[in-house]
Amino acid sequence: MTTTLLGIVDDRALGTDMRVIVTRPDRLAEAKAAADDVIKAIDAAASRFRDDSELSRINREPGRRIAVSPLMARALAAGLRGARLTGGAVDPTVGSAVRLAGYDRDFAAIPADGSPITVSVTRVPGWRAIEFDEADRTVCVMQGVEIDLGATAKALASDLAAAAALEAVGSGGVLVSLGGDIALAGDAPAGGWAVQTSEDSGAPLDESEETITIQSGGIATSSITVRRWSRGGVVLHHIIDPATGAPASGPWRTASVVAGSCVDANIAATAAIVMGEAAIAWLAANKLPARLVDRDGIVHRLAGWPAPRH
Ligand code: ADP
Ligand code: MG
Repeated sequence: MTTTLLGIVDDRALGTDMRVIVTRPDRLAEAKAAADDVIKAIDAAASRFRDDSELSRINREPGRRIAVSPLMARALAAGLRGARLTGGAVDPTVGSAVRLAGYDRDFAAIPADGSPITVSVTRVPGWRAIEFDEADRTVCVMQGVEIDLGATAKALASDLAAAAALEAVGSGGVLVSLGGDIALAGDAPAGGWAVQTSEDSGAPLDESEETITIQSGGIATSSITVRRWSRGGVVLHHIIDPATGAPASGPWRTASVVAGSCVDANIAATAAIVMGEAAIAWLAANKLPARLVDRDGIVHRLAGWPAPRH
């Protein structure tokens, strides 16, 4: 078997770990710089933690039609695509529900164990409360609606960063991972990209862990085990069931999905946590290979996800 010498660089971005891998190590610096530019631009457009982002401006001015940048238009389109594909299990209007659950600042600054809070128990406004004109690149949200693109913007950043890095390198293949949301571009190394399946993207690489080999597209993991905190003794986490406005309470604690892009993989991973049991049929119908870990730690491999090699 031929092995390709890879160039790898690790960093932090968007409040999580970032990794760029290229099959042409001599061009690693160019790839990383191109990826950094994309991620910086996504943050400036779609961060809910920055008062100066386009997203914050939209959320501050409900009822007004606002012109957005081409990149923000892509982020909004990706968020709404998620809602359409999942029947609203992924919904960009979870903003106030996420905030009310206690995720109201950069995750690192959230106290692990705080005093009791009242979690919203009303369904979120719903994605139809966003009027988005893709051709005109304008958006208008109804009063009381707060957009959160947390689920799709990070995955979109991976997709666009991988494409930009490939262009900067000129040939070969690129992998970009942002907190385990992984996008591939160009030609995979001999044998494919080997991705370790962990519930925590910060977990170290370990030869004994399950790995999956993919050639193109993307893979994403959503988990309620990493971004979680507690208020008044009640454990909360960051994935909201739009139907209740409260953290999802289904059987899966972690969902990893492979799809044609990182955005689509992430949409499906978040949706699986929200849908619960119903995700099994939905993933099969959409031919999306998935690895679900239930609350007892039992692994369920679905829709063509390969059995682990021992
Ligand atoms: P991870 O950060 O583990 O990759 P996700 O990709 O599922 O997880 O993204 C979760 C983030 O998306 C949350 O932090 C929140 O900002 C937002 N979010 C939470 N619930 C939903 C939902 N039902 N639909 C869309 N976005 C959501
Ligand atoms: Mg994700």
